[in-house]
Amino acid sequence: MSALFDLTGRVALVTGSSRGIGSSLARALADAGATVVLNGVTPERLKEAETALAAHFPPGRITSIAFDVTDGDAAARSIAWIEENVGPLEILVNNAGIQHRVPMLDLDVADWERVISTDLTSAFLVGREAARHMIPRGRGKIINICSVQTDLARPTIAPYVAAKGGLRNLTRAMTAEWAASGLQINGIAPGYIHTEMTQNLVDDEQFNSWILGRTPAHRWGTPQDLAGPVVWLASAGSDFVNGQTIFIDGGMTVVV
Ligand code: NDP
Repeated sequence: MSALFDLTGRVALVTGSSRGIGSSLARALADAGATVVLNGVTPERLKEAETALAAHFPPGRITSIAFDVTDGDAAARSIAWIEENVGPLEILVNNAGIQHRVPMLDLDVADWERVISTDLTSAFLVGREAARHMIPRGRGKIINICSVQTDLARPTIAPYVAAKGGLRNLTRAMTAEWAASGLQINGIAPGYIHTEMTQNLVDDEQFNSWILGRTPAHRWGTPQDLAGPVVWLASAGSDFVNGQTIFIDGGMTVVV
């Protein structure tokens, strides 16, 4: 492996990594040498994910901590625990997210707020806590998992579209405040990726053929498609990349 992309000795936290995209990103970071902390809200599922991933690596390389990313106090306690028990946190992937499908006229405020807090406020809370430890050391990488919905808007997912658009701009705001302290904060905007979150869309024949037609690569993405870009953004290979959001979408956002 090129030394540019070698993450040996780096501690990484991937939120929402008990399954789906987060789980794949955690594996990729560990494959590049990082010591990885998994996260989710469901302790049993998280433990299972930790056991499965740890089987591929030497002891101590994979650990986990369950906390709700919308809870700022829990984020602070969890990152303090990582710093004390695993090592200095150098890579944070803000990946945890949810979706709620309902037309806006039927959307109640509690569901609006639940999506905004899980998909946007969480990145501020966990990112701020990570930055409090990274800034004094003068180094750190934060990667925010956005979506093509930062640029495009599908009907029935208004809070998701608003949150992901906000997350792209939060990536810029973090850069404005923290880049001078040696941090790189960037975003990844995935296209349609086959995971539990999108299983119902894959199963919907009409939607599925719309996606295939709308995506120049003519296929759904896989979590693995995001691994290379995230390892690069976590590595020294991207040290002068600041505040960008990179679209990994099979070309969806560049064609009409
Ligand atoms: P999944 O639904 O498969 O997984 C979501 C993960 O987030 C789980 O690990 C879940 O943990 C965790 N999570 C949810 N809420 C919280 C919370 N409050 N605190 C901590 N962890 C939480 O989603 P995907 O893998 O598909 O998506 C991951 C990210 O990628 C999301 O931000 C999503 O918006 C984004 N994305 C996904 C796309 C897709 O097509 N799939 C496309 C573009 C972006 P638990 O298991 O405990 O519930």
